[in-house]
Amino acid sequence: MRPTAPPSGSSSRPGRGVLQYARTQYARTRVPASGPPAASAVDLHAHTTASDGALTPPRLVALAVARGLRVLGVTDHDTVAGVEEALGAAGSGLRVIPGVELSAHVEAGEVHVLGYFVDPRSPVLLDALARLRAARGDRARQMVAQLARAGAPVTHEQVLAIAGEGAIGRPHVARALVQAGHAASIDDAFERYLVRGRPGYVERYRLSPAAAVQLVRGAGGAPVLAHPHTVADLPALLPELVAAGLAGLECYYGDYDEPTTRDLLAEAARYDLVPTGGTDFHGLGTSHGRDLGATPVPNECVAQLEARRG
Ligand SMILES: [Zn+2]
Ligand SMILES: [Zn+2]
Repeated sequence: MRPTAPPSGSSSRPGRGVLQYARTQYARTRVPASGPPAASAVDLHAHTTASDGALTPPRLVALAVARGLRVLGVTDHDTVAGVEEALGAAGSGLRVIPGVELSAHVEAGEVHVLGYFVDPRSPVLLDALARLRAARGDRARQMVAQLARAGAPVTHEQVLAIAGEGAIGRPHVARALVQAGHAASIDDAFERYLVRGRPGYVERYRLSPAAAVQLVRGAGGAPVLAHPHTVADLPALLPELVAAGLAGLECYYGDYDEPTTRDLLAEAARYDLVPTGGTDFHGLGTSHGRDLGATPVPNECVAQLEARRG
């Protein structure tokens, strides 16, 4: 499946020393001037320090160039903050595709939707991304901060003490409000501060996978379902996403074996989706994802995907 990749465990692998050095210092290390040539000229799935990647956008770009990649998709979780820097760092030999990896939710868990060729300044996209990132944060802390601004201060410690071992929720904040004398009862605390539209209310913003697909479309991009093997009920979800405007399926991913890729290619053909791929690179020495360029991805998927944007 990876004819051009060096045999694993080979001590003569050119980048081995660099890799081991990077295992301990990857966040600060300089990008190697040279390294093992990538198995692929295309990697459409990589993260930077704008989300949970280890390399800054310019360092990711430098590594892609060192590996001989021609096309790099920058796809950070719920942000496009690294995209413009990556675009600026790329020279003529490397094409950077502005991307994003949206966290969507179904009952069974998270579903990731990649967006390619998105406009990184799209107000609709930026607004949704800000809300997604806020929702990832600590909702209780946000409630406490908003209540302080609304003139009803309670402390986070107080709320924690009330909640004990359990997950913190609005009832605990309500009790803290009563204890602090800002409300006469739990009901009063909810009505005045904690229901939607009141100053202590924090929206739990979640995207459905179909909404994520539409959001990418709205930002002029081509939406792709990421690492489909993590999706709980793919046969049910796929037609729904196709109807919402899905353009591609990540058939070549990380270390997917040949049968997995073959099954996904069949699904892509069935729904007329562009088969895309990438490593989900997070940084040298990180266990998540594979090494940049290590997953072979066909060159033609880039043009096919571009034709489906917007
Ligand atoms: Zn993902
Ligand atoms: Zn990813």
